[in-house]
Amino acid sequence: MRYDWQTLSDGVHRCRLPFLDVTVGLVHGSRNVLLIDCGTTLLEAAQIADDVAELTGAVVTQVVLTHHHFDHVLGSAGFGGAMIHASAGVVTALTSGLGELRADALGYGADPAQVARAIAATRAPDRVVTSAVLDLGGRLVRVEHPGLGHTDHDLVVVVDPVAPGQRRVVFCGDLVEESADPAIGADSDLDAWPSTLDRVLTLGGPDAIYVPGHGALVDAEFVRVQRQWLAARGAR
Ligand SMILES: [Zn+2]
Repeated sequence: MRYDWQTLSDGVHRCRLPFLDVTVGLVHGSRNVLLIDCGTTLLEAAQIADDVAELTGAVVTQVVLTHHHFDHVLGSAGFGGAMIHASAGVVTALTSGLGELRADALGYGADPAQVARAIAATRAPDRVVTSAVLDLGGRLVRVEHPGLGHTDHDLVVVVDPVAPGQRRVVFCGDLVEESADPAIGADSDLDAWPSTLDRVLTLGGPDAIYVPGHGALVDAEFVRVQRQWLAARGAR
């Protein structure tokens, strides 16, 4: 196994890629294997694909990209056989916005040759979604855009457990971060972000495992505290 995968419930896993500590999520049904975000490079993508084969015995057939930042989307070029679901903002980034993705990736220290390879291979997502249910076979997964926040198009993925006694899992993208303060950028909406997190908490409920875009697994209380931190930042 190339990366260190955590099992969150039956068929639900995540790893933290060493480059930028970005989360990649994995949900396995009887017919489909869903990946949530893809890292930055084709090298990472190939290593993820190898790990997925070892973990599930299958290949990735579905991808959800949570938002348009390079460390979540550029690796998607390595999953050519999968159907890619994303917001319209991600479609723009992966078509007319490639120059900005390249500049951001290089600015964060990604390997220039790897970035060039990923950009050359990248393609637009297959399906624009703001709200959808994906049928993975024996398991339905919910994709939602809970509102404005880290970007204007963040998606979260809500995965109910298939076995009793296990916890719901919410992949939050960068609406929640654990390894650093939330990244507030030019495309963030700080005023709307707290109420967006209220909707994320409603989707997950009090007992869910919340998976941040960067960092360790957190719970509902952590998300509430981060919501208050964002509200206080916005009030300044
Ligand atoms: Zn981001």
